[in-house]
Amino acid sequence: MTRTVREALAEGHPTISFEFMPPKTAEDERRIWTTIRELEPLQPSFVSVTYGAGGSTRDNTISVVEKIAHDTTLLPVAHLTAVNHSVAELRSIIGRFADAGIVNMLALRGDPPGDVEGEWVKHPEGVQYASELVELLRAHGQFCIGVAAFPYKHPRSASIEADTAQFVAKCRAGADYAITQMFFDADDYLRLRDRVAAAGCDVPIIPSLMPVTTMRTVARSEQLSGAPFPPALLQRFEAVADDPKAVRELGIASAIELAQRLLREGAPGLHFVTFNYSRATREVMAELTLPARAA
Ligand code: FAD
Repeated sequence: MTRTVREALAEGHPTISFEFMPPKTAEDERRIWTTIRELEPLQPSFVSVTYGAGGSTRDNTISVVEKIAHDTTLLPVAHLTAVNHSVAELRSIIGRFADAGIVNMLALRGDPPGDVEGEWVKHPEGVQYASELVELLRAHGQFCIGVAAFPYKHPRSASIEADTAQFVAKCRAGADYAITQMFFDADDYLRLRDRVAAAGCDVPIIPSLMPVTTMRTVARSEQLSGAPFPPALLQRFEAVADDPKAVRELGIASAIELAQRLLREGAPGLHFVTFNYSRATREVMAELTLPARAA
C-alpha cells in the first residue's frame, strides 16, 4: 500500500515537504531531476508537483509524479486544478492517477489562465469551487486529499470570516489536510490556524515557506503571499539591498527564524516552495533540528 500524507501527519512530528513545478523545456527537465536528486537525501515526508494552466505542462505534471513514484524513494503528491476541465475530464485524470498508484492529491480550483487576477470562469461542464473537486476525489474512494489555505485570506474572499467559513466547508467536503500559500510573517499563519480551530475544524494546516534569495522576491511578496512584505523585515532587507550576497544571507537566516518559530508553535509540518532549485531549501534544512521521522 502506498503511504499517505494523512499517515505521515498522524505520526505526530512535523512533516517536511518540497514543492516542484512541472518542466516546460529540456533545460527545466534537467534541472527538476537534479533538484529532486539533491533533495532526496533529506528524506522529506512527501514532495508535491504543481498543475499548470494548460497544455503540455499538465501532462508533464502527471509524468513527473509517475516518475517520482516509480524511480525515487519519494512520496509524490499531485496538484490538480479545475481550470478548463469538464467533470468528465477531471474523472479521467483522477482515474489515470489512480491507475498509476498515486493516492495523494492536492485539490485546487486554480486561477484563471493568463491573468491570475482576471475573472474566474468555470468550465461549462466543470466545477465552480475546489470543494467540488474534493468531492469528486472522495467519491473515487482511495485518495488522501489536501486543499489550499490562505493565511491572509484568498484575494477573492469578501472577508476573513467568509474565507474561514468556505475553507472549513472545503475541509468538511473531505480534505485530510491543507497547505498554505507561502507567507513571511508567522503571525498570519497562527491567526489562520486559530480562526479555523475556533470554527471547530481540526484539519492540519501545513505552512508553506520560500527563502528570499534576491530583492525580486521581496518586491513580488504581494503576488506570492497575498500580503505586503512584513515592514520590520523589509527594513532589514532594504538596509542590505545593494549587496546581493548579504540579501541572500538574510533571506536564509530569516527563513530559518520563520521555520523555527513555526515548529515551536506546533505547526504540523513545513512545506518548502523550491521553484525547482535545491540550495536555499538545503541551507535552511541544515539549520533545523527535527525529530527523527519514519522513512
Ligand atoms: P477555492 O477553495 O475554490 O476558493 C476560491 C474562492 O472561492 C475563495 O475566495 C473561496 O473563499 C471562495 N469559495 C469557496 N467555496 C465557496 C462557496 N461555496 N461559495 C462562495 N465562495 C466560495 N494553482 C494552480 O493553478 N496550480 C497549482 O498547482 C496550484 N497549487 C497551489 C498550492 C497551494 C498550497 C496553494 C495555496 C495554491 C495553489 N494554487 C495553484 C493556486 C490556487 O489554485 C488559487 O489560489 C485559486 O485561486 C484558489 O484555489 P482554491 O483551491 O483555494 O479555491
